[in-house]
Amino acid sequence: MKIAVFSTRSYDREFLSAAAGTTASFTGTHTFFYHDVHLRPETVLLAKGCDSICAFVNDQLDGAVLADLKRGGTRLVALRCAGYNNVDLITAKELGIPVVRVPAYSPEAVAEHTVALILALNRKIYRAYRQVRDGNFSLEGLVGFNLHGKTVGLIGTGRIGVAVAKILGPGFGCKLLGYDPQPNPHCESFGVHYTELSALLTNSDIVSLHAPLVPATVHLINEQTISLMKDGVMLVNTSRGGLVETTAVIDAVKTGKIGYLGLDVYEEETELFFDDFSLQVISDDVFARLLTFPNVVITGHQAFLTNEALQHIAQATVENIVEFATTGTWRNQVRT
Ligand code: NAD
Repeated sequence: MKIAVFSTRSYDREFLSAAAGTTASFTGTHTFFYHDVHLRPETVLLAKGCDSICAFVNDQLDGAVLADLKRGGTRLVALRCAGYNNVDLITAKELGIPVVRVPAYSPEAVAEHTVALILALNRKIYRAYRQVRDGNFSLEGLVGFNLHGKTVGLIGTGRIGVAVAKILGPGFGCKLLGYDPQPNPHCESFGVHYTELSALLTNSDIVSLHAPLVPATVHLINEQTISLMKDGVMLVNTSRGGLVETTAVIDAVKTGKIGYLGLDVYEEETELFFDDFSLQVISDDVFARLLTFPNVVITGHQAFLTNEALQHIAQATVENIVEFATTGTWRNQVRT
């Protein structure tokens, strides 16, 4: 099979090529064609003649793009990520194009990045780094708080939520609250006490989001839910940008209701993240406002980005493609 791989960067190519080269049933039979551009209506032609496309979180797989892919010969969409909110699954089903994904890859990678954001915000690591490099060893403005004994609310307690619980409960000695329509029995062994969403928001010093982006979670964090939170709360989102109504969060940072904000994802990230705009003007005023606050730390959707996770993603993607080509069954198919 020919596979058009979109949105690739050096690390994607390195790990996908390594996985392809060490998987006997892939080498010589299937070929990756790497493209650095995102999949969009204007780039879909690059997939013409390819049996499969391999896409990432910000590639556009709406009805029109899927129909174009079908016309060009695509028989499989292989996502090299867990989330699939960027795919019109109903149209894919109608067109008879199965969508497969990498359901779980190193949840610890995302969990550890979540904790990195919490610590960077709380202990003001970025400010301290800049000050010390300037020869400023004053500790003014660097006072943090002990995580030990603080209450952390985990919204979504699946694979990543439980990995965060493991670090923060037994590790840091935090009290843990969880909200999840499907409570995870593993979480309770790390001290997570399940509660209603409102009680979690009211009682948490830190709220961390680990739920998928589905209709029920769009703007889960909004003016009303923020109003329930403690004054000066820390909010961390390493899940999907759409969980948070960004303008409401900005208002809350301005009033001090939110005292610390850590984001690895942003609801309008599609046009920004994964590319270098350092020589251009950022035209997204909402994002630009976020960048002005001293108590906001943003990373560009890098929580997954570890050697271990990339290796796992690449291997699982190669195996998904081999499985499709050889057995006609799709263990990791996303179903509507
Ligand atoms: P998962 O499927 O294992 O867990 C998600 C949990 O959220 C489940 O337990 C589910 O019951 C729960 N949930 C569903 N609806 C909910 C709701 N309305 N409120 C609260 N909880 C709800 O997924 P995971 O592997 O833990 O990943 C969580 C999310 O992290 C993914 O959906 C993805 O969007 C995001 N993610 C981000 C990165 C990154 O690099 N930033 C990487 C991987 C995954």
